[in-house]
Amino acid sequence: MLNSLFTGPVFEMARDQLLVIADHLSIPEDQRDWLLYPKRAIVVTLPVRMEDNRTELFIGYRVQHHLALGPAKGGTRFAANIDIGEIAALAVWMSWKCALADLPFGGGKGGVAVDPRALKPKELENLSRRYMQEMIPFVGPRTDVMAPDMGTNEQVMAWFMDTYSMYQGVTVPEIVTGKPVGTGGTLGRREATGHGVAFLAFRALDALDIAPATATAIIQGFGNVGSHTAMGLAARGVKLIGVSDHSAAYYDPKGLDVKALVAHAGRTGELAGYSSQATIAPRMLLEQPCDVLAPCAVERVIDADLARRLRCRIIAEGANGPTTPEADRVLAERNDGIFVIPDILCNAGGVIVSYFEWVQDLQQYFWSRDEVMDRLERALDRSWTMVVARAKRDGVSNRTAAMAIGVERVVKAKQARGLFP
Ligand code: NAD
Repeated sequence: MLNSLFTGPVFEMARDQLLVIADHLSIPEDQRDWLLYPKRAIVVTLPVRMEDNRTELFIGYRVQHHLALGPAKGGTRFAANIDIGEIAALAVWMSWKCALADLPFGGGKGGVAVDPRALKPKELENLSRRYMQEMIPFVGPRTDVMAPDMGTNEQVMAWFMDTYSMYQGVTVPEIVTGKPVGTGGTLGRREATGHGVAFLAFRALDALDIAPATATAIIQGFGNVGSHTAMGLAARGVKLIGVSDHSAAYYDPKGLDVKALVAHAGRTGELAGYSSQATIAPRMLLEQPCDVLAPCAVERVIDADLARRLRCRIIAEGANGPTTPEADRVLAERNDGIFVIPDILCNAGGVIVSYFEWVQDLQQYFWSRDEVMDRLERALDRSWTMVVARAKRDGVSNRTAAMAIGVERVVKAKQARGLFP
């Protein structure tokens, strides 16, 4: 494989996963680098005026993995430790995810190396606007459409959209998705990812013959994805017995109060301070027995060591890349049937409803929430059915099946279009 600037454990993980699929699909050696390496990667420096009048410099990235199926599509992450390798890996995963859901997009991802919690509101706005301004030559509604990810939200998307629109001289809502409703955002986008995670967890519970009202769940991460997953699961009686974020971890086998947790996190921005009872070491939390374990925070939290000690029935991957390839091998060897709903299927609700938002913005014709959610569930159901059937037919893991479908679609599009010139 090509020696490149894309390095680090997260990119290596995306590469290793692709090699498994390439072997499985017998993809010729000379096409593997072409499939893996991004079409474009943009690195920008962002001088930002801080509240005390200093100028601080931040590094921003955008990676467009491939454009064979349509514009690149993917979130923008504001997090302290990101680098180009991690962003590239996330863009690669977006490609397989969009293709699995049959969306007319290639994979993209971007981000800024910053802890957004350390910024004042005006500093966050200045940084967000400068990032979009630097990206204008490289993005567009038919080139690359951004969305929220870790550390960004609807407000950041509104600033992105406004900045892009100011330069065009007209409002261009279709440049980003995940905007506030009322500025071109769609109903249902905010809860789409978590709703999808819960929806597919119910499918898996059903497949394992576990009634939701008797089931328990543990969730890591309580931001957009984690909190909406918790609410979605609770709506059908699943008991949340454990939850954590960057600031705290709680465990109570009698059940935690989801509404109170959501209210607390909404008020303070984190779980710390919710309770002095029921605290647990964050890593220990993930080892507790439960039916559904939903990692909804960062990559690589389930490593081989943790995989050996897991006591859950289902892993619902709300986060991108939470399970390492070594952990996947351990799970396969354990042979006790932990049912994995792989990230590119499990958290696809976000990009599916982002696609609906883009379509609505292009047409300037908006749908009801019921219509959005109904179409979302049908789309997830189609992918679920294909993945489960493929895993059974080929005798492979759900992850291999899901990735095989996604990779195959990208390969077909690339082959049909041919190599230019
Ligand atoms: P967010 O910023 O809203 O929330 C992130 C949460 O993770 C926060 O609660 C934070 O405290 C927690 N966290 C961070 N580091 C942690 C750690 N080391 N241990 C425990 N908790 C930690 O982000 P989000 O949008 O909810 O995204 C979460 C994950 O879901 C990411 O992997 C993201 O790529 C993925 N994802 C998000 C969407 C979406 O629509 N937002 C769609 C698909 C996938």
